[in-house]
Amino acid sequence: MQPVFRFAPSPNGHLHLGHAFSALLNAEAAQAVGGRFLVRVEDIDQARCTPELVQDALDDLRWLGLSWEEPVLRQSTRFLAYAAALDQLWSRGLLYACACTRRDIEADAITRARGAPPPRDPDGALIYSGRCRSWVRGPMPPLGLGVALRLDMARALEGVTLPLTWHDADAGVQAADPARWGDVVLARKDTPTSYHLAVVLDDAFQGVTDVVRGKDLFAATEIHRLLQVLLGLPEPSYRHHPLITDADGHKLAKSRFSTPLRSLRAEGVMPEAIRASLGFAL
Ligand code: GLU
Repeated sequence: MQPVFRFAPSPNGHLHLGHAFSALLNAEAAQAVGGRFLVRVEDIDQARCTPELVQDALDDLRWLGLSWEEPVLRQSTRFLAYAAALDQLWSRGLLYACACTRRDIEADAITRARGAPPPRDPDGALIYSGRCRSWVRGPMPPLGLGVALRLDMARALEGVTLPLTWHDADAGVQAADPARWGDVVLARKDTPTSYHLAVVLDDAFQGVTDVVRGKDLFAATEIHRLLQVLLGLPEPSYRHHPLITDADGHKLAKSRFSTPLRSLRAEGVMPEAIRASLGFAL
């Protein structure tokens, strides 16, 4: 089977050097094994991801010297597929509707912790208390209209053969413990899907065999693995590359590395120089 790689940016802003690094790694890895290279536009956030930003992202990647298979899949064309998966999970009793505000979530977490630090997920967000879990489950509410859909994690795990594992090309076999995330949101209040749901459905839809992405998504892979099992999707192989930091280890957002590629281009920096500075052969 021919390996399939993808670079899947969310053009909610302009692409920077961190994106260039990830895109080049994917393209290089695909080339090394005679695989296919896809670009997928993760534009579920329709308020932030404008058509101009999408166009600019593709232009920047082309300017860097990358080429990929057309047509580019845009997640904004896939809302029906996401809704079908949500429907399926809802009818199996694995989702529930949640109208809690951020304030409700904070207040519940603090009350339940009784003076101790409230529990947080691997990304540092507060674990949801489950306040809405016991709502009567009628028909699925309309998506993206003020009510979120959460995965009932305990119920979901009841139907899964444990241990659940996933494979990282650098770190080896990983034991997945998705319960650490609590009842994750699979459809957001303002968006009829979520990053986690869309990414697993689209990797399967596009036949992606090798997911190469930043280490910031390492922990989230256990949620993706659970969703793949629940939805009967194939399991890709993963590799999580280090994030680009400057020489002092400053986070991207605070350093020169967060300068948009198009600003570097406007300053006269050549794509060859960018590729070389990121460690890629010219
Ligand atoms: N769209 C995600 C991001 O830009 C990456 C998705 C992925 O590679 O799984 O952070």
